[in-house]
This record gives sequence, structure tokens and C-alpha cells, in this order.
Amino acid sequence: MKIECKICSSSAIKIIRNQKIRKGSFKKRVFTDEPVALCECDVCGSIFLEKFCDVSFYEDGEYREQFNNSRDIDVNQLLHDEEVNDVVHRIGLHTLRGKTVADFGAGGGNFLDAVINFAEKTYAIEPAKHYHSYLAKNSDVFPLGEDFIRSGTKVDVATSLSVIEHLDDPVQHIRELLDSVVEGGTVYIKTPNYNDILSRFAGEDFFDYFIRISHSWYFNEQSMSYILKKANAKEFKISYFHKYNIGNLIGWLNEKKPKGNKNNIVFDDVFNAFYKKYIEQKGHGSHLWIEIKKSSKVQ
Ligand SMILES: [Zn+2]
Repeated sequence: MKIECKICSSSAIKIIRNQKIRKGSFKKRVFTDEPVALCECDVCGSIFLEKFCDVSFYEDGEYREQFNNSRDIDVNQLLHDEEVNDVVHRIGLHTLRGKTVADFGAGGGNFLDAVINFAEKTYAIEPAKHYHSYLAKNSDVFPLGEDFIRSGTKVDVATSLSVIEHLDDPVQHIRELLDSVVEGGTVYIKTPNYNDILSRFAGEDFFDYFIRISHSWYFNEQSMSYILKKANAKEFKISYFHKYNIGNLIGWLNEKKPKGNKNNIVFDDVFNAFYKKYIEQKGHGSHLWIEIKKSSKVQ
């Protein structure tokens, strides 16, 4: 099997894992019939699946059905509302007052719902058509990034929260995000971190959960930096975002499964605030957090 890196075109690819991978909610333990190779490029550091799933998977609700056990918007919102707290805190709600905001991959509108009354106007870019009527209550809706770019609209802030890992072409996605903001505008990207603390401590048990057909890409700081430069992002900062309290790590060690933030044993909020910050500082957060400034010298 000849594999070429989709980022840098190198053929220096090694297979770092070749197992059946998750194709639905972890509770159901449904895996692919055949192993799917996880590949790593020696040149740019990109880590990706040997084959990607088709975009139609996201358009008709099949993706949510398989991974959330429901295509209903309220189920999706319940699953993601908690992390919006940390996202809004990281961006700073006060910075969005009077601004125009476009959320690429808006899902059930969790993030836009949180900022709607601060922002002057919001745009939801979301391929899942069954979410459009909800999103359209407060935002202008576009199915794909390219549709939004074609509209010629420019915003102050563009966000891409847990989206880029699903896409065929991450470089193109970052170009679209940069295209969508005004000069002086800001782009925020959040995506799972391959070097998550759990990949150290929970190993293969965690990889059965982490590696899934819907995530084509598994970024680290090296590959993300390469991709950002290739997309012509000049002024950017990559940091980390840790979504989980220590109870989640303990859950993985004891029970070999995700507990989210429900496993509140012994450690209180004060400890967890320290723990999350520490993990982020050490580069082992659950997610990479990227901020790109578009200045006049960028484009
Ligand atoms: Zn490469």
C-alpha cells in the first residue's frame, strides 16, 4: 500500500497503528470490520487515517446517530454545552461585544447560543441540514465554508471548534477561516491533541476510544504548526486546552473508559483548576487551542 502525505506530499509515511477502529458511540463498542491504519508523516509530523469518511456522513444525520445515538439537536446540545463554558472563557466573552462572529461547524449551535447577545451578528456554517432550522433562528446559515466565502461576508471573529479533524483538507479549512475574517480579525481553532495525557497513561484502551472513523486527522503541535504555515497564517499561537477534571484520568486508569467530568472523587474544584492548567502548560491537554491574528501583512 503506497500512502502519500496529504499535507506535504512526502512518501516517508510509517504506520503507527493498525487496528479496527471505532465507528460509533464508545458505549456500543462498535468497531470497523477491518483494521484501519493510522499513518504518520516523517516530514511534517501529520498523523492521519489511511482512508477518510465521505462528507455525506455529516449531512444527513448518520454521523450524530452513530456517535451520539441520536440525531436530535437537544441530545447534541446536552453533550457539548459543558465545554462551551471553557471555550467562552478562553476567548473572553467581553471581546465579542458588538463583533460579527462566524462559527465553522456550528453543530447544535452550542457556542453561538452562548455569544449571541454579545455579538452584533452571527453566522452558522454547518453541513448537517437537520440542524439548520434551529440555527437559522439566530444566525445566517451556510452549509459549507466555501458557501460562506462565496457570499463575500467578512467577520471579526471566526471559530472552528472540534471541526478540522473531520475534514479532508485542513490547509484549505484554515485558508477559508483566514479568508472569512477582516484585517485585524481573529481565528480560533480547537482540535483534539494527539499528545493528550491519556495517550501516555491509558495507552491502547484510550486509543480504542480516541481513534475513530470520523476523525481523519490527529494533530500535534508540530503538524499543526506546519499546516498553519502552509495555509499562510503568519501570526499564530498554539496552546493547549484541557477539557477534563482529574476524575476522567482516574476513570480511565480504573475502569478503562471515559467518565467525563462526572467522576468527582476526593478532588475539588480548586484542585481541578490547578490540574487542568498544569496539563495545559505541559502540552498534554485534550485539545490544541490555536489563535490566529489576521493583520494587514498576513494576506
Ligand atoms: Zn507530511
